[in-house]
Amino acid sequence: RFISLEGGEGAGKSTQVKALADALRAQGLDVVVTREPGGSEGAEKIREMLLTGDEGRWSPQAEALLFAAARSDHVDKVIRPAILSGKWVLSDRFVDSSLAYQGGAGELGIEAVRAINAFGISDWFPDRTLVLALAEGGARARVRDNEVSDRIGGRPEGYHQKVDLAFRLIAAEEPQRVRIIDASGNAEEVTKRLLAALSDLLP
Ligand code: C5P
Repeated sequence: RFISLEGGEGAGKSTQVKALADALRAQGLDVVVTREPGGSEGAEKIREMLLTGDEGRWSPQAEALLFAAARSDHVDKVIRPAILSGKWVLSDRFVDSSLAYQGGAGELGIEAVRAINAFGISDWFPDRTLVLALAEGGARARVRDNEVSDRIGGRPEGYHQKVDLAFRLIAAEEPQRVRIIDASGNAEEVTKRLLAALSDLLP
């Protein structure tokens, strides 16, 4: 099975990737943990090009194509071979990050970004995508631009609210694959919610 974990900045994604991998391993599954941008040798090189250097180095189109190119290599070299050999793959971010960041929050729109990624990954969409999100209301203030630690600087005003909204939109469009998971509360509670959202896929 192929699972991706998504979320805006500050939702506790890194902690949950580790906790979920441990929980799946405790059920006897052979789990490969990987991440984006990166995850394969070529994709890690592209990651460096994306996350270091001057802000505004890439046009939005070039940036989206680089993310998609990295992802294509990641699928080809790491994800597909692991799944074909019977392993579970847990990816820290995957295609939905591009749909939300470059598509929904950037200026390209979700559909254009979906199209280049569909070319890059063909049918290798995750079986399930879990989006860590802070509930509407007060907690949502945490996605305020000045409070997040985005690795790509120079985001325009309102960018992270748009990321958050785009994830919710994608989940509404593809409810079978994409689930919004409440990221509030302590880490163990959140991990339980993630596991519950995978229960139909577990052996
Ligand atoms: O997962 P992590 O928070 O380390 O993500 C690395 C950075 O890359 C984030 O700051 C995020 O803003 C950015 N990113 C992006 N578009 C993607 C994936 C990640 O802008 N498709």
